[in-house]
Amino acid sequence: MAVQQNKVSKSRRNNRRAHDALTAANPNECPNCGELKRPHHVCPSCGHYGDREIVAMADEIELDEDAA
Ligand SMILES: [Zn+2]
Repeated sequence: MAVQQNKVSKSRRNNRRAHDALTAANPNECPNCGELKRPHHVCPSCGHYGDREIVAMADEIELDEDAA
């Protein structure tokens, strides 16, 4: 087990942790469905990016009964 050579002071420890803060998400409204989505990402609820449908959603695909 690694053992530290010197005690890390509260100041040094806190200065190290000064850059550890998480930044809040900045969601945008989807122009197609109005749901909140991450900027520059395909909308997870409707599969659109900009004005085009990129990903077909599972509930929009009609499954054949015999194939399943
Ligand atoms: Zn959407």
